[in-house]
Amino acid sequence: MIEIFSDFDGTLTNHDTLDLLLQRFAPPQWRDLDRAMLSGEISEREGLKLEMALIQAPDDLLLSTLETEILPAEGIEGFISLARRKGWPLHIVSGGLVAFAGALLKKWGYGDIPLWANDHRRNAAGGIEVIEAATPRLKENCSHCKSYHLQQALKRGSKIVYIGDGLTDYCPALLAHRAYAKANLLEHLRKHDFPAVPFDNLRQVARHLEENPV
Ligand SMILES: [Mg+2]
Repeated sequence: MIEIFSDFDGTLTNHDTLDLLLQRFAPPQWRDLDRAMLSGEISEREGLKLEMALIQAPDDLLLSTLETEILPAEGIEGFISLARRKGWPLHIVSGGLVAFAGALLKKWGYGDIPLWANDHRRNAAGGIEVIEAATPRLKENCSHCKSYHLQQALKRGSKIVYIGDGLTDYCPALLAHRAYAKANLLEHLRKHDFPAVPFDNLRQVARHLEENPV
């Protein structure tokens, strides 16, 4: 059986929701944290917590901003209907926050697709406190260890398709039988000589996957 695992931010959406919230609601030092995470100076696990703590705006404002400005990625409808038609389970694995990703998916009519992500609450200073996804972890790098979900699917004997674009996709993509990649993930996989399929939008992913199943 083929199982599809997809990142959320920037993969199923036109923009990264966390980046948008940081751009709008955090003081500029989040950019230094982002750079430190990408260079490996600090882990995503450390960096996400520090970044999110900079956001003090209330959740309803954050959510309404996302609902206004974040759109589903180009080709999402055809991509999801391909998975449904073929009976390929689709799992969304996100390094973001479940309350926001879940609300957007529900708004777009995809609230039934399994979604794993981090949770959040407010710290004493009013900033966002990340509650790491309860998923067991294979490694310590990320707040949400996406690789664990893929490992479970491998144990089920599934062929794995992975789709992503960023730092929290580095580990899981390397476990997949087929990885569709863009942005930082594509660069990372190329560095590791992993044969990723580049993509710009989900229409291309759906077409490629339908013509070349794993
Ligand atoms: Mg992403």
